[in-house]
Amino acid sequence: MMVAGTALPMLIDDLWIDSTDAAPIDVANPADGTIFAQVASAGPREIDRAVAAARASFEDGRWSAMPPVDRTRILLRVADEIDANSETLAMEDCRNNGMLLAMAERTVALAADSFRYFAGWVTKVHGHTSAVALGNQSFHAYTLKEPIGVTALIVPWNAPFLFAAQKVAAALAAGCSIVLKPAEETPISALSLGRILLAAGLPPGVVNVVPGIGEVAGAALAAHGDIDKVAFTGSTEVGRAIVRAAAGNLKRVTLELGGKSPVIVFDDANLDEAAAGAAGGVFSNAGQACIAGSRVYVHRHIHQAFLDRTVAQASQLKLGSGADRTTQMGPLISERQRQRVLGLVDGAVEEGATLLTGGGVHGTIGYFVQPTILGMLPGNARILREEVFGPVMTVIPFDEVEEVVGWANDTEYGLAAALWTRDIGRAHSLARRMRAGTVWLNCQRVLDLSMPFGGYKSSGWGRENGWEGLEAFLQTKSVFAAL
Ligand code: NAD
Repeated sequence: MMVAGTALPMLIDDLWIDSTDAAPIDVANPADGTIFAQVASAGPREIDRAVAAARASFEDGRWSAMPPVDRTRILLRVADEIDANSETLAMEDCRNNGMLLAMAERTVALAADSFRYFAGWVTKVHGHTSAVALGNQSFHAYTLKEPIGVTALIVPWNAPFLFAAQKVAAALAAGCSIVLKPAEETPISALSLGRILLAAGLPPGVVNVVPGIGEVAGAALAAHGDIDKVAFTGSTEVGRAIVRAAAGNLKRVTLELGGKSPVIVFDDANLDEAAAGAAGGVFSNAGQACIAGSRVYVHRHIHQAFLDRTVAQASQLKLGSGADRTTQMGPLISERQRQRVLGLVDGAVEEGATLLTGGGVHGTIGYFVQPTILGMLPGNARILREEVFGPVMTVIPFDEVEEVVGWANDTEYGLAAALWTRDIGRAHSLARRMRAGTVWLNCQRVLDLSMPFGGYKSSGWGRENGWEGLEAFLQTKSVFAAL
């Protein structure tokens, strides 16, 4: 519960504490720019304290050695607690991130299901046996799957509760102890998650939540000698910094990074579905999605018809506060992000793109950018290479399959790709040729807890969700017993 003028404290062990050496962080509502809360910001001392609490909890086995069925029970309770608090949690992310309330509700429900999904794995973690014979000697050999240890979970602002919950659920299911650092822009729902985890029965110290500035708290975690693993979601640039910082103690690192995902629309596609799918793929959450399909390649035969549809859809979207149920697109997270997006659009026009709709700010309060569509030619324009993280679709005509496959893969990123075609053979054969961790055929934005998610190339290391998502928090020990 917030008290006016008081910074919300962070969670370390089972204590809610203020910062000793960093100024509190102002938390804004991007729909109107108002500061509606302050949170305590972790400095190096709090990070050390949180890591020590996590370490103590891990070493004495209060969670890591708890019988799996009891851990499952607690994680299921977390899911129920999230459901019981879903209205508040959804409103927190809606207000703090600017996302539509309906989307916030969906992500909170998915967060609860993430705990249910990973709770199911806890009782199914096991190794394998091997009958080893070396010369005359036989061995009973087996593997153990053990939690990696103390893990730092560093998450971004674009789906604050969901990204925090998915990482926390997988790490806890593996038996790790955690230090969660939310983005400085969106710390509110992560603190609520901390409260929920304690209320559901997680032992003290297993979960620590430390809001803080990336270059301070995040960097301290990435470099910390007593952290065994960092699981990071965020920009590719910061991902690289984390890899460098992690080199000190060679901690494990998994990275979910940026994207520049291509969408290819063939002339046999269901045009209405493809246009609606592509528009949703880049305007959802105001384009602030790592999986945004920002480069749309459309066969020349249907190029104009596709543009007619998507330009009409974009220009009719209703912008406003996510809390208004009639709003179809919310604001960007900050003025800084808005200036970056508008700068990329202006730069694209200077490099020869045609502005077909949008391209400017919307309204006088908040950080809104109009849904924007740019007509482009293939090439090296900055907007075709850099992640925009805003509501900007670039549309490029193509003639030949080979040329479009080359253009689609011609990026440092490899997070997702979408293909719209009724030719089933072409769809599946091109799915194999996309250098991306997720490929959608005649759909976009479909993700599931059972399906691994992650990037090729500079879009990341490792996978979240599915067994791979759990295994990322486990390590394997081989045991040989002489017979
Ligand atoms: P960001 O990289 O700026 O920040 C992400 C997190 O890292 C924040 O918690 C931040 O405080 C922290 N951080 C910043 N500097 C740090 C440092 N030097 N050391 C350690 N931590 C540091 O990203 P953002 O702007 O918050 O989020 C947008 C980015 O996240 C986009 O690039 C987007 O594509 C990416 N993203 C990827 C996925 C995915 O699953 N692949 C999902 C969502 C977002």
